Amino acid sequence: MHRTIPLALCSLLLASTALGQESGPTSKNGDELFRQLDQEFVTPTRTRAASGAPGHAYWQQRVDYSIEASLDEDKHRISGRETIRYTNNSPDTLRYLWVQLDQNIHSKDAEALRIRTTTPIPQGRAGEEAKGELSYWALGFERMRQDFKGGHRIESVKDGQNKALRFTIVGTMMRVDLSAPLAPKGTQVLSVAWSYTIRDISHYSTRTGYEYIKGDDKNPIYTIAHWYPRMAAYSDRYGWHVHHYVGEEFALEFGDFKVRLTVPADYVIAATGELQNAGQVLSKEQRARFETSKTAKQPVFVVTPEEAQATEKKRSKETKTWEFAAKNVRDYAWAGSRKYIWDAQGVKVGERTVMAMSYYPNEAEPLWSKYSTHAVAHTLEHYGRYLPYPYPVALSCNGAVGGMEHPMISFQRARPEPDGTYSPRQKYGLISVIIHEVGHNWFPMIVNNDERRWRWMDEGFNSFVQQVSEGFWEEDYPSRNDARRKRVLDYMAASDDQPIMTNTSLILQGGNNAYSKTALALTVLRESILGRELFDFAFREYCHRWAFKRPMPEDFFRTMEDASGQDLDWFFRGWFYTADHVDLAVTGVRELTLETRDPDVDKPLAKAREDSQTQRPRQARNARQPKRVDRHPGLRDFYNDHDEHAVTAADRKAYQEFLKKLEPHERQLLKLQQKIYVVDFENRGGLPMPLIVTFHYSDATQSTLRIPASVWRRSQGGKISKLFLSKKPIARIVLDAQDELADTDLSNNAYPQQIQSGSLRLTKDDKKPNPMQELKKAREEAAKEEAAKEEAAKAEKAKAEKAKGKPMDPNKAPKQGKTGR
Ligand SMILES: [Zn+2]
Repeated sequence: MHRTIPLALCSLLLASTALGQESGPTSKNGDELFRQLDQEFVTPTRTRAASGAPGHAYWQQRVDYSIEASLDEDKHRISGRETIRYTNNSPDTLRYLWVQLDQNIHSKDAEALRIRTTTPIPQGRAGEEAKGELSYWALGFERMRQDFKGGHRIESVKDGQNKALRFTIVGTMMRVDLSAPLAPKGTQVLSVAWSYTIRDISHYSTRTGYEYIKGDDKNPIYTIAHWYPRMAAYSDRYGWHVHHYVGEEFALEFGDFKVRLTVPADYVIAATGELQNAGQVLSKEQRARFETSKTAKQPVFVVTPEEAQATEKKRSKETKTWEFAAKNVRDYAWAGSRKYIWDAQGVKVGERTVMAMSYYPNEAEPLWSKYSTHAVAHTLEHYGRYLPYPYPVALSCNGAVGGMEHPMISFQRARPEPDGTYSPRQKYGLISVIIHEVGHNWFPMIVNNDERRWRWMDEGFNSFVQQVSEGFWEEDYPSRNDARRKRVLDYMAASDDQPIMTNTSLILQGGNNAYSKTALALTVLRESILGRELFDFAFREYCHRWAFKRPMPEDFFRTMEDASGQDLDWFFRGWFYTADHVDLAVTGVRELTLETRDPDVDKPLAKAREDSQTQRPRQARNARQPKRVDRHPGLRDFYNDHDEHAVTAADRKAYQEFLKKLEPHERQLLKLQQKIYVVDFENRGGLPMPLIVTFHYSDATQSTLRIPASVWRRSQGGKISKLFLSKKPIARIVLDAQDELADTDLSNNAYPQQIQSGSLRLTKDDKKPNPMQELKKAREEAAKEEAAKEEAAKAEKAKAEKAKGKPMDPNKAPKQGKTGR
């Protein structure tokens, strides 16, 4: 009878919680959450095995380049000639080759320009004006794009016999028709002559260009990438990768480079690969310093700040040619300026010494000499735990590019204030961006994914290892991933978020999606699902399997399962293939006492329970009113005096009969002294996660139980109930007490809920002066300024008078003469 009250309350509570939820509780059942990814995954092939490793017939193309280029500083123009040696390792015969001409993103008819969209300006209502907002950057960028005459100019394309080949330019790509089909294992030589104008990125920065730092309009800093015609990728999955350049990064093939760069003679050049002719471009002293830096404990200046300062005061009319060679890289980039300071330090990677080096102008000081090369060395050390750095150098260069990676070399913009001071944001921003951009050597420079298709496979992986590495820099390092955590959780909980498995060009919020959500997913997988040891083993395996090869998403997912020995389909489905989020809730707890069936025990207990039940006001008042049966005792019968809780001989006999029918172990269970709890859990976000349950006992002790996510396999409508036995009474149950599972709503993680504490600030509306007051104030200020000027003139005059009367100071003779005039 009394049970109706709690039941009614309970359903009311449930109804109000459901109303309070933005997207409502998930209706997904366990069989949907844990269905295998058979339909989502591409079928394994001879080139990509079911284990996630490269298949026994894996192949990829090879492209070797030899480039000669010269820089015209006055015209900001690069002209080059390159010989491409293309080796067809595919089983296919190729009749044409596709080349990427990324500079065509700056041509007048570029797709990237034509498809640019803008912030909507709200339409005014009838009779009203439309009013909107636009950043200086957005309009300035639009204007710059109108004015700038860019794009690759292709002078000629020839084959190995110096015979002209037909080529067709399509947007940011060029098709070269071969005079004879290129058979499997065959090699084709292409000679391309080209040139393009470099863009000023001082104000409107993209991935490459030149910069004049404020206050120096004579000495540009060049950060050069996407600069030479590059062979497009051809793979077993897609054939030619034909996604054009609209601003995203790229997919390329591995090969060796020989590069000769002719630049003004006073330039310092940083580039992918090793310098081949130090004797011709560096002074004897600089070469000696470079040798010292190889075994130094701290970065050593190869070009000092003073030397850079002296160099930028004059401009050499001569040129010098720097020669570099790089092995097994997928791209090539360089930076150069006469403003560059250069420091270097050798870092031990196994038996080898890798040169960590930084290039920056005096304007980047004192931040860069203190942190840049250290950050490079730190990256080599900690990313190296997953895969040792294979290249001979790792470079960090300052320029106008916010942060961009290329094999062995990276560009970063961060600088201190002009007065040399810097905020914590500038300091940690620099360290983090260097770790990030140098970290990109692993993803996608070594583990070579196609970022135009799957941005998360490098940005996400890299942001994740960046955070792992930052954890080794200093205690409580302010990782951006931590700062962004709340934003990512809000993003995941919002209704317009996208699955991580969204093609790069279709992602609406790249930072939240490809970078932060992927990094968060991997952090949860490492810290809370697999544990560090198992995760690191599997992730290391992925890096080793796919180093210098081209992985696809399934190759990663399959390898992680294969190497961790865990079915993670549910994790990858939830985190990568859906837009679900984590929101686990504990919605109900019942503490139950086992009935002993012994009437001498159960009946008094039942009576006590009944007596303790709340009396509603009506019942309490009724109890006090006079009763007819009291006035007419004859009305009473057996039932008026019968105590239903009294133990009878029949009860005791029935109990003995009942016991006889039980097995001994069953009789034992009846005597169980423990408390029984049935707890209701709900998966409101859709992402199944482990239940990390902390029990707070009435004696102020606690214990935590970790229940694997597979507990949700049999969930219905996102709900499960679970039974717990406890020797001590439980006072409170808390889910995910350490906030490790990316749960977007922690307010439903405790039963009973907790009062939240916080602070409150009183505010007051600032009263603005009215226009009359403003005018009055302006007049007063003008009068004050005038008075101050008069005062200063008077003081100057008095000083001059006084000086006239003074005896002559021989040290100040010329000055005296001047003032006396
Ligand atoms: Zn990145």
